[in-house]
Amino acid sequence: MARVHNFNAGPAGLPLPALERAQRELLDFEGTGMSIMEHSHRGKAFEAVHNEAISLLRQLLGLSDDYHVLFMQGGAAMQFAVVPMNLLPPGRSADYILTGGWSEKALEEAKRVGTVRVAGSTAVDKRYTRIPHQGELSLDPNAAYVHMTTNNTLFGTQWHWLPDTGDVPLVADMSSDILWRKMDISRFALVYAGAQKNIGPSGITVVLARKDLVDSARKDIPVIFRYATYAANNSLYNTPPTFAIYLMRNVLAYTLEIGGLEEVERRNRKKGELLYETIDAHPDVFRAPVEKESRSFMNVVFRLASEEMEKRFVAEAAKEGMVGLAGHRSTGGIRVSIYNAVPVASVERLTAFMRDFAKRG
Ligand SMILES: *Cc1c(COP(=O)(O)O)cnc(C)c1O
Repeated sequence: MARVHNFNAGPAGLPLPALERAQRELLDFEGTGMSIMEHSHRGKAFEAVHNEAISLLRQLLGLSDDYHVLFMQGGAAMQFAVVPMNLLPPGRSADYILTGGWSEKALEEAKRVGTVRVAGSTAVDKRYTRIPHQGELSLDPNAAYVHMTTNNTLFGTQWHWLPDTGDVPLVADMSSDILWRKMDISRFALVYAGAQKNIGPSGITVVLARKDLVDSARKDIPVIFRYATYAANNSLYNTPPTFAIYLMRNVLAYTLEIGGLEEVERRNRKKGELLYETIDAHPDVFRAPVEKESRSFMNVVFRLASEEMEKRFVAEAAKEGMVGLAGHRSTGGIRVSIYNAVPVASVERLTAFMRDFAKRG
């Protein structure tokens, strides 16, 4: 078996021990004579896995009882619609802070549901190279909520501070940096994240929602889209993606085993520092477009002198077992996604390759 150094942007690499556990348990889950996929979602075996995933999330985040942990489907993209369907009543308006392609998509979808405002944007010629400062935001004190994207997967920027929204609930798309370090969820009224970048496979979306917000959410929408439905039924209103939840459980259990989010943050900082140091040490070869204080520790983007050079970089790296380095189709360049599951050793291997590439020119 030859596992590659996987820098895919999403779905992304998973911790090997979490996959190996799934492999061991695949045909006969805990002596039940069937795989977890073949169990009823209402049965004891699956329910235990489901509840363990929820409690692991609570434990890792130190989440208070004021929050529901909900499992939904449809990805972060469905939340772009579900958030305003639940939280944006007629006659109210919601604020959106634009920091990249995903926040633009969230805004566009919300427009189809209700009234929205752009409360800030760092776009220059459709590109985003930084996170705004508080002084640049024009927040509506009467907004139903403020929406932000904590890490911008395409452009490689990440919020390293949080906007002060006063009494207005803060809603965050955390798809590409949830659990990247210890985080204070109490600053947010609602957080959502597709699992496939940092915490599991695709098919499952985690929603952390303040209970009072769920209680006061709109009731004039279909039952299947109401957060309250998921909250009232422990996210088992209809059949959930049982295998995705099981695999996420494996990832979360492994995360706790290695020391929780403190250890995760230590590794993630090390990976980011290694990459940015290498980029900055070779300004004649690598150019990072993102302003230093907005640099992402999840998606590191940089450019080379020409598209041709970038293609050569990606191809040569692939030959040496490093995959997933081409930038998003809309932005080009190189993007190194170094989510939680990417080992420090993979980044050490890549930065050695980068130094060698720079020397060869
Ligand atoms: C990947 C990503 C999405 C899209 O997620 P889906 O699960 O494919 O809908 C949305 N927002 C952010 C920040 C992302 O990184």
